[in-house]
Amino acid sequence: MVWLIRNILLSLKYTMIAQKTRLVAVSNRLPIVLRKEHNRWRIESGSGGLVTALAPVLKNRGGVWIGWPGATGKISLQPLLEKASIRTGYKLVPVAISPEEEKDYYLGYANSIIWPLFHDLQSLCRFKPVYWYAYLKVNRRFSEVIAENTTKTDYIWIHDYHLIHVGGMLRERKASRKTGFFLHIPFPPLDIFVRLPWRVEILEALMEYNLVGFQTMRDRKNFLHCLRRYFPGTQVRGRGSVVEVRYQGRTVRVGNFPISIDFAQFEKSAKSKEIQTEVQALREKFPDQKIILGLDRMDYTKGVQERLEGLRNALRRYPELIGKITFIQVLVPSRRDLKEYQILKAGIDRLIAEVNGEFAVLGWDPIHYHYRSLEKEELLALYRVADVALITPLKDGMNLVAKEYCACHVDNDGVLILSEFTGAAAELQKGAILVNPHHVEAIAEALKSAVGMSRKEQRSRMKVMRSSIRERNVFSWVDSFLGAAFAANLDDFPPVDADAREYVPGI
Ligand code: UDP
Repeated sequence: MVWLIRNILLSLKYTMIAQKTRLVAVSNRLPIVLRKEHNRWRIESGSGGLVTALAPVLKNRGGVWIGWPGATGKISLQPLLEKASIRTGYKLVPVAISPEEEKDYYLGYANSIIWPLFHDLQSLCRFKPVYWYAYLKVNRRFSEVIAENTTKTDYIWIHDYHLIHVGGMLRERKASRKTGFFLHIPFPPLDIFVRLPWRVEILEALMEYNLVGFQTMRDRKNFLHCLRRYFPGTQVRGRGSVVEVRYQGRTVRVGNFPISIDFAQFEKSAKSKEIQTEVQALREKFPDQKIILGLDRMDYTKGVQERLEGLRNALRRYPELIGKITFIQVLVPSRRDLKEYQILKAGIDRLIAEVNGEFAVLGWDPIHYHYRSLEKEELLALYRVADVALITPLKDGMNLVAKEYCACHVDNDGVLILSEFTGAAAELQKGAILVNPHHVEAIAEALKSAVGMSRKEQRSRMKVMRSSIRERNVFSWVDSFLGAAFAANLDDFPPVDADAREYVPGI
């Protein structure tokens, strides 16, 4: 309730102050999908939570979205983007990236250094200086495009780890803009962050923004800890979801804003006739089975191998589950050009074959494996039909799949098993069965209790989670970030609600 009132106030304040302000969203990728058909390019609007949340705000104030269209090389997208801009209601501005830069900046610096390091997997990092220089070059280009396409009354909202330096580079080119940055992935603890050869540069770059947002209290705490370590004079004021940090004569707001989903849309779609028909068809394919769902991008942070070991352990310990549960694992292909991802896939393929080989009986396999992306209807039907969602990342900024699963369980049935190391665990801890994703036996135990959980307990757990996600949806996420950007006083951010406090594993 406190959260709701605060959001309404922030929202009003933001609406009043920001009415004249144009919003400019900047992300590595533009929210579009490029398709080549019969040698001609076609643009489709992207989907996903960020687009859904930002689109109405951008539309209402004639906003702009700046990013890489996703195609390298020499294709002229301008006419297509102009057409797409009319359709979306906001302007799409491309930033060109060459194939070489895609390799060194995107696959290299962003996804072979920052991504593994910020997920606590420093052994997977390749700290190549050439990646760092490509990252700076591309960030500089982004700042150039922003400076050319915006004015000083615009609010520039930069998204994610690919573009940390853009704010400072705008300042360098004397393009004075009000800027905010949101990190969608976790911020690591000090003893992991220190491995980064460019650690001081990254901290300084973050302190160039007027507002820096993290997913959880823990990420924010890690960041402040690193900042104090490298800049001992740093002062922090406030105790709420947003604090003020003073450092070398600058004042920067730092807050935690857990991202979410368009709850109402998921709920509405899950109730639709088409989805119910799909759910019915799926049920008939798996009669008398408890369906367990795993759904992730193919990524080493998602803990898929540990999860499969957990399933194997459960089937060994509890043979009564054999023939009674079906585990559907969907893995959406991702970053296939990186060696680590190829090795990961080979390992997962082998493990699935091993578990199926060990336990299958004629007419029943424990694991159904899909390595592809799903159509929206398929995704919703899978969420809706699954008796249990098994979501066990080793570390995850938030994990939207967990929230989408709950939003689709409109009858308050279903059980969520969730890793302690996801951002979502802080909000969903009261309803989910939390597990340490490294603890194979704990995963097996969680599966056993989830499969046997009474309807009454399912209902009471699912209700708590659904009401939290309904209230803190993606629209309130946008409002609270922009509210923090435009609020006049720090006192507008009182101490944080119990539900949004830091989750401490095992306590
Ligand atoms: N998703 C998708 N296509 C699919 C399966 C899933 O676009 O075939 C979406 C899913 O609905 C969710 C997102 O991918 O919104 C995954 O977000 P999450 O935060 O769980 O993990 P991320 O992939 O961002 O690390």
